[in-house]
Formats: sequence, structure tokens, C-alpha cells
Amino acid sequence: MVPRDVRQRPDAEQPPVPCAACRAVFESPDRDAAAFLLVDQLTIPVVGCADHLDEFRAVCGHTTDGTADLLDHRPAGGIACPGCRLAPRSHEHPLIPVERGGVVVLACPTHRSQIVGRFQTGLETRRQITSPLDTS
Ligand SMILES: [Zn+2]
Ligand SMILES: [Zn+2]
Repeated sequence: MVPRDVRQRPDAEQPPVPCAACRAVFESPDRDAAAFLLVDQLTIPVVGCADHLDEFRAVCGHTTDGTADLLDHRPAGGIACPGCRLAPRSHEHPLIPVERGGVVVLACPTHRSQIVGRFQTGLETRRQITSPLDTS
């Protein structure tokens, strides 16, 4: 017998992150605790512990000529995208692994894929900048 509902259990797909501070944030039902990542024209609600949010911000900062900023409150102009405004009420938000923690991006699918793309580009950029000398 194959359990048909196994895909619908989010905790079956996401192993807990090692960072206890991140876990505490993710387990909190208070989605108003979201921070906001501002990079270029994007305003993205994100959830994670302070350390890993800042790491996420720093990596995304590699993908812009400007700066990536993290706000711990709703930005003055609000969120322009209606999809992103409603996103925190949805429960389908994948965890983006960030070192030993993670960040949950509470954005609409379009903006989520944009910021995840930037994060991956930023990681690649950082790897090229900081790649250690190969001494083997
Ligand atoms: Zn963390
Ligand atoms: Zn959006």
C-alpha cells in the first residue's frame, strides 16, 4: 500500500535546519515577524533568524550594483505586488538553505523565483571571489 498523502505533509520533505534560531522562527506561527529584503526594485518578505537573514542579504548583495537592505518592519511604501502581500497567508513556502540555517521567502511565485535566482547567482559569485587556493 502506498500512502497517497505523503507529499502533502511539508515536514516530511523538509529536514530540520541545524540552526536552532532559524527553527524557532519557522515554528512560530507569527508571520508578522517577517523581515523585508530590499534589493534593486524588489521588496521581498523573508523569515529566518537574524544571522541567516543577514547572510541571505549579503549573498543577494553580490548580484546588484546597489545595496541589498534588510528591514525589520514593513517598508514605508508597503509591498507593491498584490501576490506578495497575500503570500504570507499561504503555507506553501519552500525553505531556501543558507549555510547551517535557512530562509523562507514569503513572496509570490514570480518574485520568489527572482530572489532565489539572485541568491544562487550571488553564491556563485562569492564562490569565485573567495574560493580558497587549492593546496592539494
Ligand atoms: Zn539561523
Ligand atoms: Zn510578488
